[in-house]
Order: sequence, then C-alpha cells, then structure tokens
Amino acid sequence: MTDIADVANDITEHQIKVALANHQANQPKRGGIYCDDCGEAIPPLRATLVNAIRCIECQRAFEAKARLRGK
Ligand SMILES: [Zn+2]
Repeated sequence: MTDIADVANDITEHQIKVALANHQANQPKRGGIYCDDCGEAIPPLRATLVNAIRCIECQRAFEAKARLRGK
C-alpha cells in the first residue's frame, strides 16, 4: 500500500524538477569563449563562472564604471 507521504514526496519532487527546469530555461546565456567587450579569449575557468561574459580586465573596468554611475 502506498503511503500518502510517499505520494506527497513524489509530487513535491516532480514540482521541484519542473521548477528547476523552468528556471534554467529562463537563464540568460552564461559564460562565453570570448569577451563581449574586447573579443579576447576568456580563460576557461573564468568562463564557467556565472555571467563571466567579459575578460578580467574588462570586467574590472565595467565594475569601476558601474561604481561611478552608482554615486
Ligand atoms: Zn575584455
């Protein structure tokens, strides 16, 4: 006999899987091979990081500009 808690677990598990799939489908493209700003190759380790679409130097410049805009 199936326990009601097992059914609830199955439903919850299914809902989590669907929510995760939807979440991942809505994510913008992450990481790139080449920097969006200067076109230089992004080191592979960096490219695997979330939103690493710029090389380190361009990201620093981008963040410095963002800080200036924020003030
Ligand atoms: Zn760059």
